[in-house]
Amino acid sequence: MATDLLANLNPQQQRAVTTVTGPVLVLAGPGSGKTRVLTHRIAYLITEAGIDPLHILAVTFTNKAAREMRERLVGLLGEAVATDLTVGTFHAICARWLRRDIIHLGRERDFVIYDSDDQERLMKRVLRELNLNEKQNPPRAILGAISQAKNELVGPEEFARHTRSYFDEVVARCYARYQALLRESNALDFDDLLGETVRLFREHPAVLAHYQQRYRFLMVDEYQDTNRAQYLLVRALAERERNLFVVGDEAQSIYAWRGADIRNILQFERDYPDATVIMLEQNYRSTQAILDAAQALINASPQRKYAKRLWTTNGKGEQVILYEAANDEDEASFVVGEILRLIAEGAARPGDCAIMYRTNAQSRLVEEALVQAHLPYHVVGGVRFYERKEVKDVLAYLRLAANPYDSVSLQRVINWPGRGIGERTVSELIVWARQLGVPLYQALSELAGDAADHPFAARARSALLEFYTLIADLNRLREMMALGDLIDYLLARVEVQAALKREYDADEADDRWRNVQELRNAALAYANLPVENQLAAFLEDVALIADVDSLDRHTDVVTCITLHQAKGLEFPYVFVLGIEEGLLPHSRSQTDRDSLEEERRLLYVGMTRAQRRLYLCHAGQRALFGRVTASARSRFLADIPPALFKPLRRRGYRALPAPQPVMFNDRSFNQPPARRESGRSAPLPTPLKAVFFPGQRVRHATFGEGIVVSSRLIEGDEEVTVRFPDRERRLLASFARLEPI
Ligand code: ATP
Ligand code: MG
Repeated sequence: MATDLLANLNPQQQRAVTTVTGPVLVLAGPGSGKTRVLTHRIAYLITEAGIDPLHILAVTFTNKAAREMRERLVGLLGEAVATDLTVGTFHAICARWLRRDIIHLGRERDFVIYDSDDQERLMKRVLRELNLNEKQNPPRAILGAISQAKNELVGPEEFARHTRSYFDEVVARCYARYQALLRESNALDFDDLLGETVRLFREHPAVLAHYQQRYRFLMVDEYQDTNRAQYLLVRALAERERNLFVVGDEAQSIYAWRGADIRNILQFERDYPDATVIMLEQNYRSTQAILDAAQALINASPQRKYAKRLWTTNGKGEQVILYEAANDEDEASFVVGEILRLIAEGAARPGDCAIMYRTNAQSRLVEEALVQAHLPYHVVGGVRFYERKEVKDVLAYLRLAANPYDSVSLQRVINWPGRGIGERTVSELIVWARQLGVPLYQALSELAGDAADHPFAARARSALLEFYTLIADLNRLREMMALGDLIDYLLARVEVQAALKREYDADEADDRWRNVQELRNAALAYANLPVENQLAAFLEDVALIADVDSLDRHTDVVTCITLHQAKGLEFPYVFVLGIEEGLLPHSRSQTDRDSLEEERRLLYVGMTRAQRRLYLCHAGQRALFGRVTASARSRFLADIPPALFKPLRRRGYRALPAPQPVMFNDRSFNQPPARRESGRSAPLPTPLKAVFFPGQRVRHATFGEGIVVSSRLIEGDEEVTVRFPDRERRLLASFARLEPI
């Protein structure tokens, strides 16, 4: 086994894998195999060093990365061993520990986890209670300040002692009330998951000792992006055994705005003077041309302490393409045109291509162009499934079933679907609950129990009681019913479908109802758990699903993703868009050196995702914040020697060697890859041989109707992959007699 495990690693990587004890720091550039080393090391610890997998804890940056790591380990070690491992994000791991031990902090185990939308609702309530104006005191800004404080482990009292401005004072007042309401709702926000775990370990040495004993081998990926709370957590856990293995790259630190502290990685050697430090220099991901451009960019940073050289045996490869677009629409159409061309040439499948940008808003034009070209795609971190209104509404009921004290969920659905409980009644309920000093649900239960001095009119009272009975019933049934049955019961009792039909026109109601059913489908995955655990496990997973995690739901599709979320990933073809002043560096970051350099690292992260070919794009004009303005190319591009680029302009695009574009053979599909009506879009690709294109609907005499997944030209024929109702098939166009429909 050892030989297998080590065979595919270079000598430095082998050293990292086989250094079993003591602190180890692997400091290395992108694509040098840090994540791979981490995975192999887990396998090595178990098979060669004889470590019980129960003693191993690995922290990844996303849930998706955790799943992938686990899958790889299942492949290497088998299912049984892999289930004993603990692999997850800091948040997921802390949530699990708190479920077990938060009781020591005087709180209850069945807490709910509030996401940013829940937080904002709660903050709006705080502002209302404190008579503060939402316009002058934007909830997001206040939450941002609170989050920063929490990441530094500064509580409300300490925060209040150190206020330096009027805004700080507002934040201090809101922070205190916000925490009180979270507590009353039996809820934690994401930052609390970390902060409360740190507090648990600090205040309860016996609890910490338990975890230290359990987790004797700790591993952390992307260590450069840990914040103070995460740093303290790791340090506390590692104190006893000191078997701490971290990997990272300070040049890829891009989360300072979220409290990540680059010093954590730079100080590792000071924290652990006996640390083994390993550098990796061979890059296995990219071509030398891509690496050269990326390194020129990063080495030009004035903050760069020492320049690392990365080399590869992947060959020189193609030069980085620098595309200068006339405007943002042109940029989008160029990118989509290139992707179509690569697919038609057989060089790429949609899933090989990633489009990256600085801000979410940039995805819209790209999406339009992709839709028009019938290219299947997926936007990471767009409106996520679990953030859609109807999904959140149904989830709110489920959260109440699990924890009726959750006040944000309660307020969310107290009048959805409409049951005659107006704003005023809700305000009265809030005030009354506050007078009684109890959570909202408790107040409802007082009302049900004949409280005499309540403020409600008779009709409001009976509507409130009806809602109370509903929640009480759900709460009672949750442990008796399988999750799927509970959801069915809920949907029927609340008449969700009818409500959607009342609120939206037919098509939209239908769409939204389908989303609700999709939620019902997601619940199926929990059918094997004991009935009483299904709801809790489901809600936990939903709460922790992060943007990047939805990635693997779709397979062979173009990925649209922000630069921040692209960390750790790799794609054969990468397009980075909008490399312009104001976007990258972002206008917010231009005034101080630190954030400016963080923007540089962000571009560096994007560029180093590319395996085969990298496109850097910028446009001369762009609609930003609702206005079309001229935009200048980013200062970062000036740090890369022009000789490393192959420049392209609109006219140059036509001159690209050997384009073999898709021919559109059906009128309804006969559209250029971007908005034609604007008159600024890409020229139509010249018709050539390929007749089928992804997304096209076709009919086959035997297999029936299907959708083209991909097509490529091979030896005078076209090989078309089609998804039929039963399965995917690869067909040769000349034999298959596929008919477009
Ligand atoms: P990043 O900093 O971007 O997270 P990384 O250092 O974690 O990068 P990996 O993702 O682990 O790099 O590796 C990059 C690619 O190189 C992966 O596809 C990985 O499988 C491959 N790779 C790494 N080491 C080797 C090796 N010794 N032999 C073959 N392929 C390797
Ligand atoms: Mg990695």
